[in-house]
Amino acid sequence: MKSHLLIVGSLAFDDLEMPFGTFENVVGGAATYSALAASLFTEVRVVGVVGADFPEDTLSKIAGRGVDTRGVERANGKTFRWRGRYSKDLSSRESLDTQLNVFADFRPKIIPEYRDSQYVLLGNIHPALQLEVLSQVTAPKLVAADTMNFWISGERKLLTDVLSKVSLLTINDEEARDLSGEHALPKAARAIRGMLAADSGPRTLIIKRGEHGALLFDEHGMFFVPAYPLEDVKDPTGAGDSFAGGLLGHLTRTGDVSARSLRAAMFYGSALGSFCVEDVGPARLFTLEKQDLSRRLDGFRKMVDSHGALDGA
Ligand code: AMP
Repeated sequence: MKSHLLIVGSLAFDDLEMPFGTFENVVGGAATYSALAASLFTEVRVVGVVGADFPEDTLSKIAGRGVDTRGVERANGKTFRWRGRYSKDLSSRESLDTQLNVFADFRPKIIPEYRDSQYVLLGNIHPALQLEVLSQVTAPKLVAADTMNFWISGERKLLTDVLSKVSLLTINDEEARDLSGEHALPKAARAIRGMLAADSGPRTLIIKRGEHGALLFDEHGMFFVPAYPLEDVKDPTGAGDSFAGGLLGHLTRTGDVSARSLRAAMFYGSALGSFCVEDVGPARLFTLEKQDLSRRLDGFRKMVDSHGALDGA
């Protein structure tokens, strides 16, 4: 039976203050990035909400990439809006404004056609909503989640509840430290893996470190994948969500959550993150082809293990 990936998260308008100019009303949102990234691999179902101001044409373009958008609700009111400002070297950013708008009253409804999804990505939204989604899927094979500092400090109890029901968590290093109270990442990882579900797939923590790559921790140890070095980074927004989309996309397509498959998925995640940052907003994800992906994978191969370097060590 074919597997499907269910993604829940924000669909948004972003206002991005970059060192070389400001871009307003850029279509964004965690679910948008993850779904577009995953659509290169597998059939994706999206659950989220947009306002009356979200162009039908944009939803059609997302659907045109093979994403099932029947689970995106249209509510009266304005679409979620986020404004961020990036540092000169794009390595950090601050959130200037977050307007929940239609997200404030959003209660995710999983349409009957989506309930049998075997793979689930709970994007960064209120943990209570993540729990509501989970209670509506019937027999997931792997549940992954993303979260952020805001929920770690503000809704720790509910978030702990979510973590006890997911087996794969993707967060950044600062979030891993906040969540665990440990500074050293291997220690933080041990503590966080202990919070994850024991009975629904391998307990896996992935720590995203932006341009410094990503680290996976599971029962077999640590695994590191670098970020792909690019000559020209335009906009890092959505890179983490694209990483998660690529990662889960690969796992869903193969139906394999073995240690090897998870490690391969790390390369797909990193590749999708690298494509995302090549243009402003998700533009590059709309034009991405499978050949682009295989070329980038060749690039990774050369970068991490060429000329038999490791065999010769
Ligand atoms: P990333 O750069 O991977 O962290 O993702 C950035 C995307 O997340 C942007 O497109 C925003 O619209 C979206 N976003 C920012 N803050 C939030 C939030 N509090 N809840 C949900 N989505 C958010």
